[in-house]
Amino acid sequence: EGLKTTIIGRPNVGKSSLLNRLLGEEKAIVTDIEGTTRDIVEDYVNVRGVPLKLIDTAGIRETDDAVEKIGVERSRQAIKEADLILFVLDQSQALNPTDHDLMKLTQDENRILVLNKSDLETAVSLEEIKDLAGNSPVISTSMTNQSGIDDLEEAIAQLF
Ligand code: GDP
Ligand code: MG
Repeated sequence: EGLKTTIIGRPNVGKSSLLNRLLGEEKAIVTDIEGTTRDIVEDYVNVRGVPLKLIDTAGIRETDDAVEKIGVERSRQAIKEADLILFVLDQSQALNPTDHDLMKLTQDENRILVLNKSDLETAVSLEEIKDLAGNSPVISTSMTNQSGIDDLEEAIAQLF
């Protein structure tokens, strides 16, 4: 068993890359095609003594695709049941309504905001994010450069 840690965020922000990085193996499929993660991939990992059950969800968004819809519904369920939410944002893209919805949906949850793709030119200000974040830690990462993972692990360890 482990603390249920659900990775959320809209498609293509780097959720599966983050899962793989934390697990240290290529378990989830990473592609630049949206909607690749249709089901939920999960595995156990120990982060600085904190046992986590990591759950990579389908990107939450409105969709007409029946198969994807099942994945999305399971994502919402996973948020409710989570002990920790890792909310991944692509900092090279402006925030969109889905990001704002997810921010509201998770505001009362134990949450860390992961500002991924820090290797790319930034399109969101840290002030904007921190305004929305409330008390949630905000961690800047790049899965491409493998940076920020230590900071994220530290933030997780601090919460438990
Ligand atoms: P998901 O849909 O949220 O699970 O996103 P993926 O992990 O599948 O990644 C989507 C795309 O973004 C892939 O092409 C990744 O290689 C790329 N990607 C992930 N993290 C980063 C990052 O930190 N920087 C850059 N430049 N690309 C990234
Ligand atoms: Mg994915």
